[in-house]
Amino acid sequence: MRVERILAPNPGPFTGPGTNTYLLEVDGEVAVIDPGPVDAGHRRAIVDALGDRRAAAVVVTHTHPDHAPLANPLARELGCPAFGYAPGPEFDPDVVLADGSTVRVGAGELEAVHTPGHADDHLCLRLGDVLFTGDHIMGGSSVMVDDVAAYLRSLERLRGMELRRLYPGHGPEIDRPREVISWYLAHRRQREQEILAAVESGARTVGQVVEVVYADVDRALWPLAARSVCAHLRKLAADGRVRFGGGGDGDWDAAVSPAAP
Ligand SMILES: [Zn+2]
Repeated sequence: MRVERILAPNPGPFTGPGTNTYLLEVDGEVAVIDPGPVDAGHRRAIVDALGDRRAAAVVVTHTHPDHAPLANPLARELGCPAFGYAPGPEFDPDVVLADGSTVRVGAGELEAVHTPGHADDHLCLRLGDVLFTGDHIMGGSSVMVDDVAAYLRSLERLRGMELRRLYPGHGPEIDRPREVISWYLAHRRQREQEILAAVESGARTVGQVVEVVYADVDRALWPLAARSVCAHLRKLAADGRVRFGGGGDGDWDAAVSPAAP
């Protein structure tokens, strides 16, 4: 097995240095994982890196715009199917992968592990003790989460696997998977405690919670933080620990209050 990384030219606040496109080679056959955005130069870089090896599959971890849009056109060019959990805004899988489905690459079997949380349609992809984590786990930063309860369950599931290395959708590879997964779990639980404490000490809107919990974070990231706070508040409300009507995702003015005693 061999893994090559090709960095897409889309750096930014959501994408770090850019999206990692991976070429996973087994026995001379290659799976392209997360081809990224539609970009002629990036597409050329992927095709050049493939050389005369056979492409067995194009696989996407989830349908966000920095991961999936190039998948269908690239799969057509390479003459192989595009695989993913579900259709998305700019992606339509030729083959749908359910949890536990596999993609054959040479003699290897790349296994789909459904990991909702960052996105409902998110897959991690496992080959032996190596896991491609998409945006479920990123190299060196915390992750934008839409469904906190699902995200924590998905992390717990990954923590139970025997893994040697993680290849994230952004940032560098990770060689101590269990430590890093435990950090992510602890980080989420700490955020939850901080958000609950902010509500209990008087924050009454999503914006007020953000101002307390993310006081030391660049204000440019506060709209993003508001989405994360809403996700946490939905979970806390489901757990009966706060009252939260919801409001649109990341709604700054959405009201929150402590649960009735
Ligand atoms: Zn994403």
